Amino acid sequence: MTAGYEPVDSPDETTVFPYHDLEPPTTADIYRARRVVDRHLPRTPLVRSEALSAEFDADVYLKREDTLPTGAFKVRGGLYLASGLDPEFHEQGLIAASTGNHGQSVAYAGRTFDVPVTVVVPEDANPSKVTAMERLGAEVLFHGETFDDAREHAEELATAKPYRYVHSANEPALVAGVGTAGLEVVEDLPEIDHLFCPVGGGSSATGYCLTVGALTDATVTGVQSAAAPAMHRAWSEGTLAPHERMETFAEGIATRVPFALTTEVLRERLDAFELVEESAIERGARDLFVDDRIPAEGACAASLAAMRQQRDAIRGDTVVFPISGGNVSPDLLRTLLDGSSLE
Ligand SMILES: *Cc1c(COP(=O)(O)O)cnc(C)c1O
Repeated sequence: MTAGYEPVDSPDETTVFPYHDLEPPTTADIYRARRVVDRHLPRTPLVRSEALSAEFDADVYLKREDTLPTGAFKVRGGLYLASGLDPEFHEQGLIAASTGNHGQSVAYAGRTFDVPVTVVVPEDANPSKVTAMERLGAEVLFHGETFDDAREHAEELATAKPYRYVHSANEPALVAGVGTAGLEVVEDLPEIDHLFCPVGGGSSATGYCLTVGALTDATVTGVQSAAAPAMHRAWSEGTLAPHERMETFAEGIATRVPFALTTEVLRERLDAFELVEESAIERGARDLFVDDRIPAEGACAASLAAMRQQRDAIRGDTVVFPISGGNVSPDLLRTLLDGSSLE
């Protein structure tokens, strides 16, 4: 049996291997990624929300990333990364740790480029997301209680066998692919004033900073749950130390460990970073379903909750937030619609 790769020194708590490049992508890299992403994925609609435009007395647009195959923006990054995969990894394939959407992205990319995929998920992973990964041909391994347990297991497996470990943030190609969403926003709505983006590992917010932030006059605001503020702390204090608290129901933004590559870009370019309460995220998710008929994941509703905290600052302006994912389990949707609190 061939062994995997020995980890190299990592600036954050996660494992990185010699093939990981921690240099952030540039806006030009995102334009290069665009050529590949456009070949494989449809452009996603940017749709004005009448309900939210009325509520905020503003022009509010939703970037419908939930309409992508896999139902979340991450597939942009997985596809671009896999498109340039070194042939040495073709046999053992890709491995990733995920609460669901990153795993689906890597699974979709592996199927597209005919490379095997293994995804490690926490034991209580969203069953709809697990089924979707398996349907795309990935082997799914259950390990541990949290994303970080699953991540550490994937990192051990990638040390034992020559997988290409697809990190969820310390991957310039992945971030460049994800950033293509922002180029679409810039083209469709150059008059944008504000973009609100949920932050988990930070790839999406990094992509918007390098596109909407770099190419328009808009401000880019990151959002996390006050119950899971790891990246917020990394951004405000410059520390990559893990955060003890991680209790959000919104699995897309449930991270405890900040990542080096994305933190570097966000500290330099993100205009503001809001923390929102879990109850406000729940209310936002319910409103998006009732008023806009979108089964939005909690992560998307975090943006809406942050806009509600910044109501006066955005009145009269043009505002965009991504519907970053629509993979809501029926159980969660039922609970949200019942109006009972998830806590
Ligand atoms: C992953 C994810 C996020 C957070 O994106 P990052 O790039 O990890 O910050 C937000 N929403 C959804 C639906 C996600 O799957």
